[in-house]
Amino acid sequence: MAFLKHLQLLGFQFIPLQRENCDDRERELENLRLEILRCKACPLYKTRKNPVLGEGNPHSILLFVGEAPGAEEDEQGRPFVGKAGELLTKIIKAMGLERGEVYITNVLKCRPPGNRNPRPEEIKACWPFLERQIEIIKPKLICTLGTFATQTLLGTQEKITSQRGTFKEWKGIKVLPTFHPAFLLRNPQYKRLAWDDIKKLMAEYQNLKSRDV
Ligand code: SF4
Repeated sequence: MAFLKHLQLLGFQFIPLQRENCDDRERELENLRLEILRCKACPLYKTRKNPVLGEGNPHSILLFVGEAPGAEEDEQGRPFVGKAGELLTKIIKAMGLERGEVYITNVLKCRPPGNRNPRPEEIKACWPFLERQIEIIKPKLICTLGTFATQTLLGTQEKITSQRGTFKEWKGIKVLPTFHPAFLLRNPQYKRLAWDDIKKLMAEYQNLKSRDV
């Protein structure tokens, strides 16, 4: 009580309550990044140059999840900065957003040598990091890019071709699977289908954003 009176004397009319702010999430993500730096839960730590946690707005309602870092991502320690990253950035811009407005990460935080496919034991070892990342960011919408992200998040063995373009759910979060940008670069004939998916993603993003407080 004496403390409150003292504050009153100092001119405070009310006490601002501590709210979760950007720093809280950034701090938690930084802690996660430090854990990933020390991680030896699978052999990929031996061959990577830089682990890649992810980047973007930690308060975004939209999270993109890809497969794993490639050569350029491994060099820079940033997600989606190679050719596939350029395409993802274009996709985000086509949604009317800036790349920094969303959050982008991968299932694996370290590059598989030669960009080979992630192995089941590596995905299993790295999964807790992605799970915690989602818990910190609290997105309302997740776009899984490609087979591995989709299978990992949804716990399915189905291929991306049968999963893409329809909304699923994970722990109450809407999930829209679509093709990985690297796949689209190799198979441009699938870009039209991907754009159909992205239009659904845009509509749902706008819908959730309008209700976001
Ligand atoms: S890929 Fe994931 S589990 Fe494997 S060493 Fe890197 S951070 Fe650890």
